[in-house]
Amino acid sequence: MIKAIKGTNDILPDEIQYWNHLTNIVLNQMNIYNYKEIRTPIFEQTELFSRGIGDSTDIVSKEMYTFIDRSENSLTLKPEMTASVVRAFIEHSLGKQFGLNKLFYISPMFRQERPQAGRFRQFHQFGIEAIGSHNPYLDAEVIQVAFSILQNLGLKDIEVNLNSLGIPEERNKFAEALKDFLSSKKNELSEDSKNRLESNVFRILDSKNQHDQELLAGSPSLIDFLGEESLEHFNKVKELLTIAKIPYSENHKLVRGLDYYTHTTFEILSSKVGAQSALVGGGRYNLLIEQLGGTSTPAVGFAAGIERILLACKAEESFIPAKEEIDIYLIRVDKELENKIFEIGTYFRYNNRTVEFDYLSRSVKAQMREANRLNSKFVLFVGGEEFSKGEVQLKNMSDGEQQIVHLNNLDSILSIIK
Ligand code: AMP
Repeated sequence: MIKAIKGTNDILPDEIQYWNHLTNIVLNQMNIYNYKEIRTPIFEQTELFSRGIGDSTDIVSKEMYTFIDRSENSLTLKPEMTASVVRAFIEHSLGKQFGLNKLFYISPMFRQERPQAGRFRQFHQFGIEAIGSHNPYLDAEVIQVAFSILQNLGLKDIEVNLNSLGIPEERNKFAEALKDFLSSKKNELSEDSKNRLESNVFRILDSKNQHDQELLAGSPSLIDFLGEESLEHFNKVKELLTIAKIPYSENHKLVRGLDYYTHTTFEILSSKVGAQSALVGGGRYNLLIEQLGGTSTPAVGFAAGIERILLACKAEESFIPAKEEIDIYLIRVDKELENKIFEIGTYFRYNNRTVEFDYLSRSVKAQMREANRLNSKFVLFVGGEEFSKGEVQLKNMSDGEQQIVHLNNLDSILSIIK
């Protein structure tokens, strides 16, 4: 038997109700905050991600689904969305058309990670990219959008972690200080962290290795290296989060996996989903657009993992998807009335009512059971003595009340079952 690829998921009809509920909330909040949807292709030239995300990151160095197509082009299934959105922003000169572009997306992503609870190889993200402004009000807004969506999903057990990475000069000074601090402990570091000492020393800060974390006790803190402007920006973001009533904790070790962040970085965590606790990650990336060949343009955004958020929602029982129901089930009392059932069903469907009837030659009793299973609000009996008089019988399933309706008068049913 052919099975789905490890780390990918089928989303079956029972499950899709959770997805649709989440999508509706996302679309509604994007509308409230005035973000416009953008869709980009599933695959891009590999170079976009290696340049945009950074060769030393886990994503580019170990996780991308890269392949050579029949024309010898190196292509990659998108592992994240920011690089693609920025590519589209540059390619279509969106910055020239509008001073500020507030964009959002919902899309599958692909990373060859080791599958486990909350970590998949095809997963889905929604997110936003606000491109064109330095303004700290946008940093706060971006966090607020993510927080509002999680709140509207009913999640309570969530925590915002906040940090500032400042600007490159400040980070470089900090990187030197951190390297100095760790160089005497180099031999004790985990293999990964040893490699990162030269290639990407910040990443050691979010090492999952317990001993690495112990070695970091008393290490220099990035916050002490921020200049006046960076601190002012950071303080403003914090002030705005307070006005927006969004609780947060400062976490000066929050550097996030990607190279392109400047100033604000944040994550929203849930303690209900096990080791993979980050539901949302984001921040400001003022350098990326220039790095990808555009004119220097500041930007800020986030990406949120849908599978993980739904895991958290289920763990907290934060919402129950609306009960599925149909308007009317047509019960075929006499076998030969199949065309009549189809005709009546067509009439109701053309009038936008949800209708179902039997395709499996079931008995009246079995059709009734099916109507109950589908939570049908009404059933219509077609056949028997009434039918010979040109009539059908309508039953309201909530109170059991029945009434006779003439077949010429089906529009009266429309007003009853609207
Ligand atoms: P990132 O793009 O790595 O910053 O991730 C942003 C969010 O996407 C994370 O906080 C997760 O919720 C989600 N995410 C990232 N990688 C995966 C994965 N392999 N499987 C499921 N969700 C993921």
